[in-house]
Amino acid sequence: MTVAQVRIQTLQRAGGVVAALGCLLLGVVAMTASYMDYKSFAEGGSQLERFHRALNAANAMSRERGPSNAAMGSDEGNREAKVGDLVLRRRQTDAALRRLADLDDGREGVVTSRRLFGQMTASLALGRAEVDRVVALPPAMRSGPAIESAILAMFSAADEAARLRDLIGRDVIARTPQIGADVMLATAASDLREFQGRLGSYVVMMLTSAPETEPRLRRDMDRTVERLTFLRESVSAYTDIYFRDPGLRDLISQIHADYFRKGLGYAMAAASMRVPEHTPSVGTFTAEYVPSMKTTEQFGDRIVAASATRLETLRDAEWWHLVLAGLITAITLCVIGATALVLRRRLFTPLMEAHQQIVAIANGDLTEPAVLRSAGSEMDEMFEGLSELRSQQVEKLRLERAQTALTQQLREMSQTDQLTGLPNRRALMDAAARMAALEGQASRGSALVMFDIDHFKRINDTYGHAIGDVVLRRLGEIVRPVLRPGDILARYGGEEFTLVLSEVDEAEAFAITERIRVLVGEARFTDMYDTRVTASFGIALRAPGIRADWERMIDIADRRLYIAKQSGRNCTCASDEIQLRHAG
Ligand code: GH3
Ligand code: MG
Ligand code: MG
Repeated sequence: MTVAQVRIQTLQRAGGVVAALGCLLLGVVAMTASYMDYKSFAEGGSQLERFHRALNAANAMSRERGPSNAAMGSDEGNREAKVGDLVLRRRQTDAALRRLADLDDGREGVVTSRRLFGQMTASLALGRAEVDRVVALPPAMRSGPAIESAILAMFSAADEAARLRDLIGRDVIARTPQIGADVMLATAASDLREFQGRLGSYVVMMLTSAPETEPRLRRDMDRTVERLTFLRESVSAYTDIYFRDPGLRDLISQIHADYFRKGLGYAMAAASMRVPEHTPSVGTFTAEYVPSMKTTEQFGDRIVAASATRLETLRDAEWWHLVLAGLITAITLCVIGATALVLRRRLFTPLMEAHQQIVAIANGDLTEPAVLRSAGSEMDEMFEGLSELRSQQVEKLRLERAQTALTQQLREMSQTDQLTGLPNRRALMDAAARMAALEGQASRGSALVMFDIDHFKRINDTYGHAIGDVVLRRLGEIVRPVLRPGDILARYGGEEFTLVLSEVDEAEAFAITERIRVLVGEARFTDMYDTRVTASFGIALRAPGIRADWERMIDIADRRLYIAKQSGRNCTCASDEIQLRHAG
């Protein structure tokens, strides 16, 4: 595998891993966020349940004050019945308190509320004891201050209940701010119910107290009315701002009608009547007044129920977000995986293969590779292009070879004599130059022999030019067997030939030349005629250690050939001093 292929593969793998990790990270972040919200909504749900129970406990304690007041205001005739009512109501309060205690799961955060719960129940027990002390007295013996003190003790218990309720409410808001408005509205509704009850209790105090306490009680009553008005405004405004539920708005109007028109009006009237025969008894007042607070209680319950539903919806939505985020992550991972596979099959693998093929072509390997599985039309086109390039390279190579062969042929032709097939004069000079390059290593000398057919003109004249050609051609064949490796025979021109003998001394050169002269003289050149020819030879020698000057040697050999001709032909001249050898 080449460096480029490794790089492509690394790029492909790194790209895939980075994309997958990124997607996974996003998915985990989204899922974690959804899961945290889901958990907080689920926990908020159980906290809301605690808050609801605290609210119910506080309301139950508010409600208990009605029968308490009625029992304290009872006479001998209805005492039994009023005490019975109170016992029943207290049971309901106790049940609400038990339900609240049941949810105390011992966790860190509820320690404070457990302490408050203890204070609240203790306070309630004190209030109830005071109420019981008053109820135990004969009606005539029950004093206004005693009744007032019992009612205030019950107020304290209600204050403790409100503190516990607010503590739990704050916890719910901290955990689940999304239902903060619900909690605050439910709290305000609970306060509204509590202060409605308190107003009733102040009326009871006024009905049972001495006239001198009246201004103080009236001041307390006025403050309570102010508080009620403020709470009504708050509840009404919160409902308008935060809740779209038309049922809640209807309930607000109902509270207005039931309590603020009827109940509150009745209470104010009852408190103002100082004429004994027109003044209602505590029992009558309580029986009239308590039902006017019913819608306020319903309102609080409805708010809590709506919050619970909303929390569930939010929680379920987060659950679906979680599932959706998981699904999207899984699908995206699948898509990334599939894309990586497709890219690998359709892009990276073909690219690596193409790279390999290009490198092979560049290295001269033009074998057609195995056919690959199709990787899409673009890639197929690229491989077709490579195939085309390969064919072009093959064709180019073929042309180059043909050209080389032609050049070789031309060179050979330019150096070969067409008639005899022997090297021509140019080839001789080239070969001689090559020989000269090796002369330094040679320990012996060399010789250049020029020879010319005697009276060749006569052959042409006697037998025709074609026979002359045959003679010339045969001459090469006749001389060649005498040559040793390294010797060169060339046609110098016309009927004149040149022989280069390597590694010879004067005697050897002379002997070889003579052998050739004899061979030529004895040879039959054609079958048809008795064409016999002789030749004359001139030898030039190069002594060992002396650099050859071939031009000069040709001149010398030519001169000696001339001497041989002059000396009667068919002889060899190896020296400028005439030294003749005649045939025979
Ligand atoms: P000498 O002994 O003095 O050399 O006499 P000669 O006749 O051989 O010499 P000359 O120079 O007078 O004649 C050479 C002849 O060789 C003339 C020419 O027609 C003939 N010749 C040269 N080349 C060729 C060839 O290629 N073919 C044929 N057939 N004849 C050739
Ligand atoms: Mg000649
Ligand atoms: Mg001649």
